[in-house]
Amino acid sequence: MVTTSTVPFPDVSPSPRVEGFLSRTKKLLIGGRWVDAAGGKAFPVYNPATGQIIDMAAEGDVADIDHAVRAARKVFDNPRHPWRTMSPSERGRLIWRIGDLILEHKDELAELESLDNGKPVEVAKAADVPLSADLFHYMAGWATKLEGNTIPISVLYAPGAQFHAFTTREPIGVVGQIIPWNFPLLMAAWKLGPLLATGNCAILKPAEQTPLTALRLGEILQEAGLPEGVVNIVTGYGETAGAALAAHEGVDKVAFTGSTELGRLIVKAAAGNLKKVTRELGGKSPNIIFKDTPDLQQAIAGAASAIFFNHGQCCCAGSRLYVEKAVYEDVVQGITAAARDIKLGPGLAAGTQMGPLVSQEQLDRVTGFMDAGRREGACVLTGGGRVGERGYFVAPTLLTGTGPQMSVVKEEIFGPVVVADSFEDTTEIIARSNDTPYGLAAGVWTRDIAKAHRVAEELRAGTVWVNCYNIVDSALPFGGYKQSGWGREMGHEVLSQYTHTKAVCIGL
Ligand code: ADP
Repeated sequence: MVTTSTVPFPDVSPSPRVEGFLSRTKKLLIGGRWVDAAGGKAFPVYNPATGQIIDMAAEGDVADIDHAVRAARKVFDNPRHPWRTMSPSERGRLIWRIGDLILEHKDELAELESLDNGKPVEVAKAADVPLSADLFHYMAGWATKLEGNTIPISVLYAPGAQFHAFTTREPIGVVGQIIPWNFPLLMAAWKLGPLLATGNCAILKPAEQTPLTALRLGEILQEAGLPEGVVNIVTGYGETAGAALAAHEGVDKVAFTGSTELGRLIVKAAAGNLKKVTRELGGKSPNIIFKDTPDLQQAIAGAASAIFFNHGQCCCAGSRLYVEKAVYEDVVQGITAAARDIKLGPGLAAGTQMGPLVSQEQLDRVTGFMDAGRREGACVLTGGGRVGERGYFVAPTLLTGTGPQMSVVKEEIFGPVVVADSFEDTTEIIARSNDTPYGLAAGVWTRDIAKAHRVAEELRAGTVWVNCYNIVDSALPFGGYKQSGWGREMGHEVLSQYTHTKAVCIGL
């Protein structure tokens, strides 16, 4: 079933500007200076379209994390440091400037992201980069709005006594931020925007697969005038640098995005000093199309993009498609056609609609699931394997004839693989949708407003999209129920996760 191309995809050279960035030695940003890793080591960065090494990044480890934590603590623990005394308005303007600079360097960042991650450069230009800028712009406004309350208290055991009680919002302190490779720049923005708006300090650990845009962002933060040591960037492997950051006693909170499996490790590592933990983890999101969907063609296109956008490397990907029996055949045929129409190619090649997966490891993982599905009896309607012999390309894949116990139905694949099944009863499909340890997102397609509300209410998921999918916005909170996470990203909800509430009570 796979359309295995023997013709290699074309080689596309990056622009001179990006070549220039690649030719510079990559270092760690600690205390406002670009420094080599203490151990002097570097690790390779690959172009997923070719499997070739395009750069080397400094391999931060325990000593570098410790160095970065000390740099951040030096800022945070000094109440007279310019970052600690900066007015909210000035902080807001600085964050806004970061957003502006991202837009100013939009084309370069998009190209770098495409080269490093594999996604089409046009997608990075239309989504990753402007959304990153927007997140900083959105968060800039919150710097001046972190208000507390005045609270009339009664204090029953002190009759007649008078008090003036109020709350303030204070930054949590030094935060370790560990991000994944699927939206490298955007995930850095999701983490750093609220952190800066609330006056914290960070050690950002980008994913080892995609360190480049975070390093370029480090230069932008400097250009925007962020004081030294407020944001430190340590590239390196998860098992070493990431683990050291999650466990470090000098870190007050760790904010993590990645798989549920790793999320568990982070919680264990954080237990030493009981640092705060927020996590945005995996998903196996149901996407339910009822026969009364307002526009079947729109629902088909929406369901295809729910799983194939970003090559399925989205934690909220609509990877379980449930279709009401009367329209099941139409939907399955429509998605098969949509999958076959998708133009695969290197992210930088003109017209590419789907790039390679990010790494050899992901290629092995995703094709492993495809094989497992086939072994367990699933029917491969389209796709089902690797495309070409070079780079990490796989065909967009639709599986039917699956059962609830199959690994392709239960587990997060994190690739362009959707399992489709039919249903007849609303109560039954809600139960099937919720029959998962995950709860990140869900989709519902119906023109029946009462049904839409009922299903949205009963789905145990942090986001429910009705007659749309993958709609994210800086103002809309995002996060998971169940094993899909703790806490929320974006919106004003995220601010509570970067602040302590202090209650002050004054006896009058
Ligand atoms: P997954 O692919 O399982 O979603 P990733 O490999 O993308 O997860 O990892 C997400 C982030 O977590 C990356 O920055 C990675 O380096 C980091 N990471 C991996 N293992 C650990 C670990 N044991 N402790 C802390 N961070 C880790």
